[in-house]
Parts: sequence; C-alpha cells; structure tokens
Amino acid sequence: MTILGRQMGKELLGKRVSQVEVANPKCLNVPFGQFQKAVVGKTIKVVESRGKWLFIKIDSRVLLFNPGMGADVIHFKPDDELPEKYQIKFSLHDGTGFTIRVWWFCYLHLKPEEGLGEHKLTANLGLTPLDKRFTPEYFKQLLGKKRGNIKSFLLDQKNIAGIGNVYVQDILFNAKLHPKRKIPSLTVGEIDALFKSIKLILRKSIEMGGLAYEKDFYGNKGGYGPKQFKIAYKPGKPCPICQTPIQKIKTGSTSSFICPNCQPLTM
Ligand SMILES: [Zn+2]
Repeated sequence: MTILGRQMGKELLGKRVSQVEVANPKCLNVPFGQFQKAVVGKTIKVVESRGKWLFIKIDSRVLLFNPGMGADVIHFKPDDELPEKYQIKFSLHDGTGFTIRVWWFCYLHLKPEEGLGEHKLTANLGLTPLDKRFTPEYFKQLLGKKRGNIKSFLLDQKNIAGIGNVYVQDILFNAKLHPKRKIPSLTVGEIDALFKSIKLILRKSIEMGGLAYEKDFYGNKGGYGPKQFKIAYKPGKPCPICQTPIQKIKTGSTSSFICPNCQPLTM
C-alpha cells in the first residue's frame, strides 16, 4: 500500500471527482446517494497509506479504503481501456481516474476529517515502520509495555501498521529471533537487530516495487517475491546461513517459517 499510496498521490492530487460508481455498496458505511453527494465535485487533497489502509482526503472528508484480502487499484487516462472487471470507479474532471477490483471484500468508508478518531477500524492504527517518527527509541518504548510473543506483536496493526505475515518471516530470521520469543526476554542487542531488520526488509520490498502478487497503480506487479525470501514459505529448503532445513511451525492462527538453528527458542 505504501507504493500505491505514493503513486496515487502523484496522479490524483488537486483533481476534482466528477463521477463515482460503486457496484458493491456493502463496502460503504453510508448510503450510496450520500456517499456520491459527499465526494462528487470535491477535490482530492492528500493520499496517505498506513498498513492496509489508504487515507484519501477529499476536501474536508476522508475516504478510508482497506482492500481486505487484496484489490487491484488501477489508474486510467482518457483513452485507456478499463480493466475487464471492477466494482468501484472514480472519474476525475480531467478524464483520468481509477478503478478498483476487489478480490473478496473491502471497506470504503467516508468520515469527516474531525470525526476520524471515531472510526474504530483505523483510530488505533500504529505507525508504519517507514514513518520518520518510527525511531529505535519509539520502538523500544512500544515494546516496553508488552508481555506477549514477538510475532503477534509485530503483526498487530495497533502496534505497527504494515507488517504482514509475508514480511514478518524474514524480519524475524534476519534478527535471529524465534517467533514465540516473549518480549520481556529480548535483549537490547536483539531489539536493535529487530528494528534494523524491519526497516531493511520493508525498504527492500519498496525498492523492488512491492510484493510480487500485488499490482501497483499502473497495473505492474512488484518484484519482491519468493526469490527474495530467505526462509519465508520455503519449508524443507536449506537455511541460507547454516543449511539446516527450514521448518514450518504453527504460531497461534498463523504459520511461521524458521531455521531451528539460527532462531532457537531461548527464554
Ligand atoms: Zn540457519
């Protein structure tokens, strides 16, 4: 979403919404008529991403979009052929716009800017690790109050917005941490390694255009995929550091991939 948000900002800022279509009104938090009235004729001011959410500021209102399992949000110019399937379409006054094809379900919520704090799904979102305010000190403070295991902490969007189950595997591997390590047991050195690993993996993915199974605003797939993964989704393959076979283990409701030698479960 980071890349998508940046590209959308580049294409959409300052443009006026001329028409909007929503074929799946269940994703809205207000009736379609009200939605239409609130956005048509208004200008797109800001596009930001936080975790899986896009925040699109349209005049004094904010459009909150979450793609659920995933969605293709694709830009179009006046003479472009539109994607075969889409549920949502925003047309802009200059003839450009974008379509959204949702894989399963999505949220497309509208809130007045001053009412954002009441939007339960986004009000408690943590910072994205690429935010300037996400510093080693901030990260230490955030961990300081927690008791649970490190993987659940990293995946919880209330702590940090933007680490999914794909990225977290190599993030923990790089930091040599078992996903079930309890937070109070982490040493200063381990926390430091983890912080660097989060930044490294996310920056690398962005440099490569994002995840290989997600499309950007121009319909291009990202380059960060299985070739770049060190241990993620590679059960049985040798660890790139010590050659021990990679194990797939259950961690709560998610699966984890670990090298049992590089990421021992020490308490
Ligand atoms: Zn290893």
